[in-house]
Amino acid sequence: MANNTKIGWIGLGMMGEPMAQNVLQAGFPLQVFNRSREKTQAIESAGATVAESASDLARWSETLVTMISDDVALEAVALGEDGVFAHMPAGALFIDMSTVSPAMSVRVAAAAAEKDIAYLRAPVSGSIGLATAGTLTIFASGPKQKYNESLALFGAMGGSLFHVGEAEEARFLKLAINMMVGITAGMMAEALTLGEKGGLDWDQMIEIISSSAVASPLINYKVDTLKNRDFTPAFPAWMMAKDFNLALDTAREESIPLPITALVRQHWSAMEATGRGEMDFFAYVTLMEQLSGLDSGSDK
Ligand code: NAP
Repeated sequence: MANNTKIGWIGLGMMGEPMAQNVLQAGFPLQVFNRSREKTQAIESAGATVAESASDLARWSETLVTMISDDVALEAVALGEDGVFAHMPAGALFIDMSTVSPAMSVRVAAAAAEKDIAYLRAPVSGSIGLATAGTLTIFASGPKQKYNESLALFGAMGGSLFHVGEAEEARFLKLAINMMVGITAGMMAEALTLGEKGGLDWDQMIEIISSSAVASPLINYKVDTLKNRDFTPAFPAWMMAKDFNLALDTAREESIPLPITALVRQHWSAMEATGRGEMDFFAYVTLMEQLSGLDSGSDK
């Protein structure tokens, strides 16, 4: 894909905004639309054009990218009566980078095929920091040729790019990775609480875990979050609850038992019920502290 491909972008939330900024910085002609207009200010100042409506954007775009919340948002934006599929020209490319269910994605694929719109599913792994740095991991499924033609676009946002299949493979992979990410938060929460009860120094314990055999890039990203007990959300607990729902619903439809995922899902409900839904998902440790009778069961 040449850098003069006209890129339309819908969804300037926590992830969409820095991703779109990187597309703009890479030199693509970029028009954006966001349901709440105020979120377009920063990217407009950086040089992007703000479309009057999603339908105007759909008519203009050669490639239209969405980075929006969930199945409900994707259904409304793509398939709604005045959704983008009603306005995109035949032959255009639609790329959805949101985290949604394979079931919704199948519906989008069917509607895209009917309109002769090419469709790539391209969810991402990594949070706001990597989105800002342009080093997300992006895994796409859908027509390989369209993926190859989109490498410059994906390269503007990601450091590791993969094509994983022709259909919903990328949706399944995203759910698999997020299950592991969420379960890691649960594993850390229990381990840290045990350590605290055992009298370990908080900072030293985190330091040692992050250089132990169980360390991972994710645990290392979260060292400062945990040490400072600053649970400003890079990825809020309620959003992780959404992803666990997607994984569990998908697994139920396919008769796949996911017992660990099901157990950890209960704790996302407890996070929401105890006022932690908007906190970063690594605030899970504060819930475990509370259940263990530690008075540090909150952010300090
Ligand atoms: P966010 O900050 O909540 O932004 C959501 C975006 O979706 C906003 O632009 C919002 O518009 C738009 N939206 C929601 N419902 C809509 C609807 N019905 N019609 C039109 N637009 C709608 O979320 P985010 O963190 O950027 O996440 C976006 C996606 O990436 C999600 O699927 C999430 O699971 C996934 N993801 C997030 C992270 C992360 O660390 N945050 C990491 C990887 C993947 P308004 O501004 O009008 O509300």
